[in-house]
Amino acid sequence: MEQMTGKAAEYEEPRDVETEYEKCEACGSNMKYDPKSNMLYCEHCGTKRSLGEEEQAAELAIEDALRAAEENGWAETTVFRCENCGAKVALAKGEIATSCPFCGTAQVVELDEMAGLKPNAVLPFRLTAEDSNEACKKWAKKKIYAPRAFKKNLKAENMHGVYIPCFTFDSRTSSRYYGRIGKRHTRTVGSGKNRRTETYIVWRNISGFYDHAFDDVTVTAGSKVTQKDLGKMAPFDSNNSKAYDGKYLLGFSSYCYEKDIVQCWSEAKGTMDAALRQMILSQYSYDLVDYLNVSTTHADVTYKYVLLPVYAGHFGFKKKNYNFFVNGTNGKVTGKTPVAIWKVALTVLAAAAALVGLAYLVMQFA
Ligand SMILES: [Zn+2]
Ligand SMILES: [Zn+2]
Repeated sequence: MEQMTGKAAEYEEPRDVETEYEKCEACGSNMKYDPKSNMLYCEHCGTKRSLGEEEQAAELAIEDALRAAEENGWAETTVFRCENCGAKVALAKGEIATSCPFCGTAQVVELDEMAGLKPNAVLPFRLTAEDSNEACKKWAKKKIYAPRAFKKNLKAENMHGVYIPCFTFDSRTSSRYYGRIGKRHTRTVGSGKNRRTETYIVWRNISGFYDHAFDDVTVTAGSKVTQKDLGKMAPFDSNNSKAYDGKYLLGFSSYCYEKDIVQCWSEAKGTMDAALRQMILSQYSYDLVDYLNVSTTHADVTYKYVLLPVYAGHFGFKKKNYNFFVNGTNGKVTGKTPVAIWKVALTVLAAAAALVGLAYLVMQFA
């Protein structure tokens, strides 16, 4: 939540928003987005319908967005009226896609109703919730320290698809750098009994220019999935994301950004800076860095405000809850598993035994 302005928070009337939804032409039921066929489908009678023309998402110039970011004010409470059953439904703060809790109709808040910047891109789900459950099982099987019962019984409960809000940034960078790096060398000194090798460091001043074009550096703008989790599920093929269309969200849940583009752009620059340092240093052979100053200018900066597909689920095991996130396009999983203490102990013992054995051998032949 953003900080409060000077005056005390006033009571706010819930704001009514319009939602979009799709009805089946054959039976009038609720339609959802189907990741497998990339079509809308009716849960009731199975009728499918094409999404119509799909467009690639565009890259947008950042300047206007940085200005618009100051205007974001998402109403504390938002409600919509379900056109199917007439119920008034409250949305969680920032929620833009949900299903009516009374009749199940999938609803997406209309783009015009969204506060602040509006998503311009979406990477549609390619996997179903069942696919992502299978991905979790495969992932757990590879965890050698996880208890067997955990791996055998793992079934993520409430596996549900969430589009998470992210910003991606492109930038053409030009950097000027100078610094001092060192390389270790060895030499033999002394003679006779005093003959020995010693290590010395040769220092060298470096400087130069470095150009690099970054493509789709991705920063998460929500709080549901951390940047670290996002990294573990990477890659998301955000370059192939589609122009935003609410239809992709039908049947899934989604939220608008909590961190604005100003903050996300600053984080992206941090990521780019770290990457540039590595790229600059990788041109040299070195063991130590005394210091490295890099000053970078950014040109042609563009962004996408993209919704990325993630399945979230959890599994209760021995009174503890384990959470998983699964990339909704490639099935990469991130999460924690319990650890079987005896498996770890066995590994430690085996390593210790190997060391003892080695020490014994060394003593034999010394
Ligand atoms: Zn139908
Ligand atoms: Zn309803």
